[in-house]
Amino acid sequence: MIDFSLSDEQRQIQSLARQFAKDVIIPNAASYDREESYPAEIVAQAAELGLLNTIIPETVGGLGLGMLEEVIIAEELAYGCMGIYTILMASELGITPILLAGSKEQQERFLSPLLDGPKLAAFALSEPDNGSDAAAMKTRARFEGDEVILNGSKMWISNGGIADLNVVFASFDPEKKHQGTLAVVVEKGTPGLSHQKIHGKLGQRATYTAELIFEDVRVPAANILGEPGDGFRIAMQTLDKTRIPVAAGSVGIARRALDESVSYAAERKAFGKPINRFQAIQFKLADIKIGVETARWQTYYAAYLVDAGLPHTQASAIAKTYASDIAFDAANEAIQIHGGYGYVAEYPVEKLLRDVKLNQIYEGTNEIQRLVIARTLTD
Ligand SMILES: Cc1cc2nc3c(=O)[nH]c(=O)nc-3n(C[C@H](O)[C@H](O)[C@H](O)COP(=O)(O)OP(=O)(O)OC[C@H]3O[C@@H](n4cnc5c(N)ncnc54)[C@H](O)[C@@H]3O)c2cc1C
Repeated sequence: MIDFSLSDEQRQIQSLARQFAKDVIIPNAASYDREESYPAEIVAQAAELGLLNTIIPETVGGLGLGMLEEVIIAEELAYGCMGIYTILMASELGITPILLAGSKEQQERFLSPLLDGPKLAAFALSEPDNGSDAAAMKTRARFEGDEVILNGSKMWISNGGIADLNVVFASFDPEKKHQGTLAVVVEKGTPGLSHQKIHGKLGQRATYTAELIFEDVRVPAANILGEPGDGFRIAMQTLDKTRIPVAAGSVGIARRALDESVSYAAERKAFGKPINRFQAIQFKLADIKIGVETARWQTYYAAYLVDAGLPHTQASAIAKTYASDIAFDAANEAIQIHGGYGYVAEYPVEKLLRDVKLNQIYEGTNEIQRLVIARTLTD
């Protein structure tokens, strides 16, 4: 028998996150977006409520929440603001490789300090010259004694520069391509590590996004996750999981687009009646609703597979692609339903469209997701 219900604990987490989005995120989201500023206070409050770094295991003092709980939180917080949620999501993204490949000692050493206040992790894979083709990375790792020396740069890193730790992927043997890569933890303040904040993003402007620059950055070889050679595999296994919260965030955006559109269409009158009396508008609302429900179930299904320890590559790629595509359409239609008012910042729907565009790009573009799905069918 299939059980579609959430547990009492999951419903409590959902209502906590929903309330936080309503009381704290929604009233402040527009100003952080406008100012392109980092919402430190909101992140601190999220940490206090237990909504940050939720996947840190109980063995090192964390909550040890599963993927289903993470997606429940993601939908609610992204309903409030995807840009603010991405800060939290990117931290879970940075933590995931340490959970997948870190030893017990590394998990304790790197993860337990993150529980001490609003501290963040970051995941540094993409580079200025390559994103989709991650195995072509140019950041170099060289071994010297019991140290690794890093040189190069990582582009578009969410939480880059403000995170307490960065999981960095680098190549120690370019000829071996992906087999010549490693994953290593670089802590904030390590000499030679600097960053440049990226300004002028279309959306998700509350997230701090930066280029990370490595100039002879020395880290102990004891910071390498798994073995040298495991880097690319660790990155791909991480993204197989973390695409699911991107899907959930997209569901949150689509649900927000629906709610805003339903209320606007009930109030706005044209030709002497509310616009929700026109079938053309009703069909748009129905289509957004179809997207929200179907994307949520695919997202939950992918999360279930992760939590059950079952293969999830295909399901997570489907969830990420489908949910971000329907959410893009939902935000677009929400603007159409709002007419001219949808086009200005006085109403929240134009921000939904700007924010959701990124969900089709980061953690592997939707073209790359379609390749991932196709490979599960043809290889
Ligand atoms: C705001 C923001 C935050 C981000 N956060 C992070 C982060 O925290 N950590 C991190 O490591 N990265 C991050 N990224 C990077 C993101 O993951 C990459 O931008 C993404 O993977 C695409 O890489 P690219 O930009 O180099 O595009 P490219 O790889 O150059 O792709 C350009 C276009 O070509 C298409 N394309 C490329 N190869 C193929 C192919 N084989 N078949 C079909 N189409 C193809 C792509 O789909 C895309 O449409 C972030 C990006 C942004 C914009």
